[in-house]
Amino acid sequence: MSLKRSADRKVTNLPSPNGKTAKIANSFGLPAGRGYSCPGATETCQRVCYAGKLENLYKGLREVLTANLAELVALDRAGMARLLGDMIADFRADCERAEARGARVPRDFRIHWDGDFFSWEYAQAWADVVRDNADVRFWVYTRSFDPRSLDVLPALADLTNLSVYLSVDPDNLEAAAAARKRHPWVRWAYLAETFADGRADLDGLPGKRYPCPENGRRIPLISAKGSACIRCGICPSGRGDVVFSVAKR
Ligand code: SF4
Repeated sequence: MSLKRSADRKVTNLPSPNGKTAKIANSFGLPAGRGYSCPGATETCQRVCYAGKLENLYKGLREVLTANLAELVALDRAGMARLLGDMIADFRADCERAEARGARVPRDFRIHWDGDFFSWEYAQAWADVVRDNADVRFWVYTRSFDPRSLDVLPALADLTNLSVYLSVDPDNLEAAAAARKRHPWVRWAYLAETFADGRADLDGLPGKRYPCPENGRRIPLISAKGSACIRCGICPSGRGDVVFSVAKR
């Protein structure tokens, strides 16, 4: 039994020398949608879900994600942590091999390029893995923060090598505000129709927020200089809230 990582060009910690593909797979995915791993999916995210669209385009990708979920749901917290931990050990080994060849490889890992925390035990298992891998910097976006369905934030608190972003849009704004009152350490990744809408919706809220430079087409998805997220660094470091625009302007 093993889980499969995904090589996501936007987040990879090592691009190919020609800057076109991901050399190291540093993300993990599950199938998206309320019927699969996203109990907190909103109308807005179901309408625009980029990862879900990729699943429909590529059958092989869908099979990998579905197999990941099938392996996990059959296990308890310790079993899930074991499988996830093995996957992170493989990621570390890839980094070490590249470093031995002279590459600079930040140990950044994105939990869930697709999908979300589907249960409390699964979130606890990830917390165990994050704690056990202090040399890796993890980041994650989640809609599982509403106690009426599933709130995993208490399981993810106090982990210094994990940045947690609430995926917020106009449909779950109130629940996100309540979640941030309970957990002031979380960041927001806010999805609006345009960056101007995002600024207006969040006007008056405290803290620093940034428009995503990749989503706004100010930096490329990937280049020989690095992937967008590793170059930008806002989300991996949890530096501040970010705003995404459906219209990309
Ligand atoms: S703000 Fe930066 S780190 Fe976050 S998604 Fe956009 S490019 Fe990636």
